[in-house]
Amino acid sequence: MFNKILIANRGEIACRVAATAYRMGVKSVAVYSEADANAKHVAVCDEAVPIGPPPAKESYLRGDKIIEVALAAGAQAIHPGYGFLSENEDFAQACAKAGLAFIGPPASAIRAMGSKSAAKALMEKANVPLVPGYHGDNQDADFLREQADKIGYPVLLKASAGGGGKGMRIVEKSEDFKAALESCKREAINSFGDDKVLVEKYLTRPRHIEIQVFADTHGNCVYLFERDCSVQRRHQKVLEEAPAPGMTEERRRAMGEAAVAAAKAVGYVGAGTVEFIANQDGSFYFMEMNTRLQVEHPVTEMITGLDLVEWQLRVAAGEPLPKKQEELAIHGHALEARVYAENPEKGFLPSIGTLRHARTPHAVAFELGAGAMAGTPSTVRIDSGVREGDAISPFYDPMIAKLIVWGRDRDEALAHMSQALSEYQIVGLASNIAFLKRLVESKPFATCDLDTGLIERHQTELFPPAQPATKHVLALAAASLLASESAGVASDPWAGTSGWRMNGALQRRLDYADETNNYAVTISYRKTGWSFQVGDAASDLSLIQRDGKDLVIKLGGETVRGTVVRDGELFHVFTGGAHVALTYNDPLAHAGQAEAEGGRLTAPMPGKIVAILVEKGKAVEKGAPLLIMEAMKMEHTIAAPASGVVDELLYAVGDQVAEGAQLLAFTHK
Ligand code: ADP
Ligand code: ADP
Ligand code: MG
Repeated sequence: MFNKILIANRGEIACRVAATAYRMGVKSVAVYSEADANAKHVAVCDEAVPIGPPPAKESYLRGDKIIEVALAAGAQAIHPGYGFLSENEDFAQACAKAGLAFIGPPASAIRAMGSKSAAKALMEKANVPLVPGYHGDNQDADFLREQADKIGYPVLLKASAGGGGKGMRIVEKSEDFKAALESCKREAINSFGDDKVLVEKYLTRPRHIEIQVFADTHGNCVYLFERDCSVQRRHQKVLEEAPAPGMTEERRRAMGEAAVAAAKAVGYVGAGTVEFIANQDGSFYFMEMNTRLQVEHPVTEMITGLDLVEWQLRVAAGEPLPKKQEELAIHGHALEARVYAENPEKGFLPSIGTLRHARTPHAVAFELGAGAMAGTPSTVRIDSGVREGDAISPFYDPMIAKLIVWGRDRDEALAHMSQALSEYQIVGLASNIAFLKRLVESKPFATCDLDTGLIERHQTELFPPAQPATKHVLALAAASLLASESAGVASDPWAGTSGWRMNGALQRRLDYADETNNYAVTISYRKTGWSFQVGDAASDLSLIQRDGKDLVIKLGGETVRGTVVRDGELFHVFTGGAHVALTYNDPLAHAGQAEAEGGRLTAPMPGKIVAILVEKGKAVEKGAPLLIMEAMKMEHTIAAPASGVVDELLYAVGDQVAEGAQLLAFTHK
């Protein structure tokens, strides 16, 4: 086994690899960009070396520098994690040349699977079923459109070099083909430096089912069963589970064997995932192979009781696979939710900021290693690369954590997930936690009515209108405010405070608001506590216990528990599994108010201008696309907030813009 490995990644995967290395007695070396000097992955590794400025191109993608660091530190191997250099054949080759083991497949296997088009050609030869489509070299727009016409609409355009859900366009009809092709090619060249595309039949209501494979250098290759990753947004996984609901033994074997055949066809070594797209009737087609560890690998670890990173290290060190196919078995059910810094209500737009408050569910410590999970009645595992106080920056993935749960069966796993999500608290940036909870509890997910369009199709159920804040929420916010004002003088809430606005005798009005409503809360002081009134009904309110941000109050006859986190004028109240952000209208603060954001003419986040679609002086209709920004690995179209005229373009293509920067001057008609 190696003495020391370098981890060429960041965030949760770097931390996760470091955990296994530590357990195996292998030293780990972290690398980090200037943005990550205080990051968790730097803290958990044995050594850490800076490699450059924040942009990935100047740090985490600097293979040459990373190899230099590895050699200088005396590491014998490099683990690339996922993303970044993990599927870069030149890097894999450069490692070998430098005498370092690349903890991944041989460069030739990465190359063979790196192009979705070339991979499909290979799979065709290996008799692995393919989605009908064209994956050849002819890239002429008219020719491709003819192919699409032949396949029949809807079709899916894919960047051959694509990944991470990027570079894909659904085309509904022939007339739309050219525009979609152009936009697909633009995204492909920007993201992957290669604008080759393939066209395939767009399946309706498909499921994404993938097979984990593992091969060693001794000619062994096994499959570690399937993961169902059908629940997606923007073609990116949101929930992943294993085993796949409804999977039969027979089909599992068929898919497993097809995946092993795919791996063998390219001389695969190490951990890999063969992704299939499956019809509701169970028929399946090869989609692509990811030649690396997958983000969702923990669900496989949970049901097999194995540590896949340990297997990776053993295989890279030349050892045979620890188990044979017939020694592998599935125990129970595992589910993973990707907790992202994003705003599901605003089209899942990524959000950046500092985790001012972060509280994770009561995780039962996850012990890596054989059989650790098997038979454990309740297990929650959290893989995260950030801690309270850390930032989600615009430079990298907006992932906050992966929440993984295990149950004896699917229903139990779902119940654990729902509970864990209720306990997960994040303040400081938008997160998808509440959305994930609704998703996990939704009827289609609970009843396994799964396909990749689930989120789209159940918009109404998944995005219910915001509910007015409950009395519990308002009372917790009020109690927290009153308690903090009188901190230290618990016996007399009126003492020690300054500037209270009293209306008449010992009465005070607290004004709160959320997105939907304003709430006037009247607090009256009584010898025995407070009286809390919102609307007509008044109730007694008293603070039973306060431990930092955690409160227990008594409201009328009810005991209510919650956590209240104050962030300036915002009161974040967590109670009963819900998170409500209330704005407190402090009569004393005269904060310069409301800079009514001119539609989305300002940059929603820092990013790069990739296309300008209008000219100066041009009149546009409401909703017309004006320019396209790229930020956090996504394209964002900035549209006209109303009909009007573009007076001035303030940036050019290629410019980097700051969050909130005005992008163009615009006059409403
Ligand atoms: P797929 O490629 O099928 O979407 P995954 O869901 O496993 O497979 O996503 C892997 C992608 O996630 C990578 O290609 C990368 O873009 C992104 N990613 C997630 N976390 C990280 C990270 N810490 N560093 C770099 N990339 C990451
Ligand atoms: P990436 O490299 O971005 O992971 P994939 O080829 O794996 O790209 O596809 C990502 C997702 O896009 C799939 O999980 C599925 O939801 C959807 N998808 C891909 N191909 C098809 C298809 N032919 N029909 C319908 N949906 C598809
Ligand atoms: Mg994929």
